Amino acid sequence: MSHSDPASQLDEVRAAALTAGVVVIGAGQAGGRAVEALRAQGFAGAITLIGDEPEYPYERPSLSKEMLHVADQETIAWVQKPEFYVANQIDFRPGTRVVAINRGQRSVQLEGGDVINYGALIIATGARVRRLELPGASQQNSHYIRTLADSRALRERLVAGGRVVVIGAGFIGLEAAAAAVKRGCGVTVIEIGQQPLGRVVPAQIGAYYESLHASHGVKFLFNTGLARFHQLDETVVVETNAGDMIPAEMVIVGIGVLPNAELAIEAGLAVDRGIIVDEYGRTEDKFIFAAGDVARHFNPLFDRHILLESWQNAQNQAIAIAKNLASPVGAAPYAELPWFWSDQYDVNLQMFGLAEPEANCVIRGNPATKSWMLLQLKNNRMICAIGMNSARDLRPARDLITMGAVVKPEELADVSVPMAEILRREKRERALVG
Ligand SMILES: Cc1cc2nc3c(=O)[nH]c(=O)nc-3n(C[C@H](O)[C@H](O)[C@H](O)COP(=O)(O)OP(=O)(O)OC[C@H]3O[C@@H](n4cnc5c(N)ncnc54)[C@H](O)[C@@H]3O)c2cc1C
Repeated sequence: MSHSDPASQLDEVRAAALTAGVVVIGAGQAGGRAVEALRAQGFAGAITLIGDEPEYPYERPSLSKEMLHVADQETIAWVQKPEFYVANQIDFRPGTRVVAINRGQRSVQLEGGDVINYGALIIATGARVRRLELPGASQQNSHYIRTLADSRALRERLVAGGRVVVIGAGFIGLEAAAAAVKRGCGVTVIEIGQQPLGRVVPAQIGAYYESLHASHGVKFLFNTGLARFHQLDETVVVETNAGDMIPAEMVIVGIGVLPNAELAIEAGLAVDRGIIVDEYGRTEDKFIFAAGDVARHFNPLFDRHILLESWQNAQNQAIAIAKNLASPVGAAPYAELPWFWSDQYDVNLQMFGLAEPEANCVIRGNPATKSWMLLQLKNNRMICAIGMNSARDLRPARDLITMGAVVKPEELADVSVPMAEILRREKRERALVG
């Protein structure tokens, strides 16, 4: 999908937005950042922010980390203080669900029947957890981590000496496992794949996290599916399809998310595991944009559409849309190298770029320590950098990726050559050529 002239088309949409206002569906990170950026950019039209959670917009990363680490202190990263919405004349509607988009009339319908018109619409409805479809699994005995309410309920139930089963060894499951260990629980992780993080990072990283967790006493069951849960008073017994019975006081499920794209589907917009948008965040309806976990955006750096479930993407994609809607100066595409992080125990992982199964891997540093990197190369260019406690080397690595620099594997593997030095040399050489 492509729009021929983004600047003139955005002029038309901007004019409509000034007259009829901007409506944002979903008051999560992307929705919150979108309305904040609209006002920061001087947008003077009406703004309505509609969210079905009861809270003001907040960021989710702490929900599986700091929020769970201690019993009596909350760490919530609010996008803005409550006063902000009133002071900036943002009509914030918490606890309110949008049930339909009427593209012909340019309006949204709320549960209960109210209708709100828009000049421009931003869909920022995020994603919801995939639920276990399993005999015996219920809301009472299966905990998920998506909302503040989920995280609050979980932190109350993590008690020292408790037995916790985590289903799914992705990032959320592993962060929850680390938090449960910190709270003194005994943890078993059950994973259908053959190692942790199998779907998102190379095998060496998965192996590293397996041994990191094992060193904290976590037990893993790989290649293991589930048969059913048995509820016996306060205990849930997890029966695997191999016939193992694992008793626990608590089951935490982290098996991925599904984009909340139904409103877009029903409105006839293109959806392919996420709402399809271009590099300006536009759907094929020029008055409708989408951002964050619900959007599959065209990224010029990759020359294809990608869906990211990350803090950076939720924030910066929303800001890019807001800037283009608010500012009459040109139209800037959203084209960022993906960045993601995860905190488990005393290891901070950061990843720039997207890992590819076929790419060559170079190890920098010693994976037996807490600080090392894995760099992925394709056609002698770095495409992805994953660092454990390696913030200093990661920034120059990111720049080498975005510059498309030709790199030498043996040099990258040599920790005595600072990554910043490789970058400086690359910049010097380019300056000489240029
Ligand atoms: C536990 C957890 C830990 C994470 N940790 C990290 C991390 O360490 N690093 C990282 O980069 N990323 C992390 N992420 C990912 C990051 O938080 C998400 O990518 C980000 O929250 C997506 O923001 P969003 O605004 O697109 O969606 P959301 O934050 O999901 O917000 C969407 C909002 O829209 C609401 N909504 C949906 N449908 C409707 C409707 N019809 N009407 C009204 N409202 C509606 C939803 O209820 C929700 O409140 C984590 C996510 C979770 C859940």
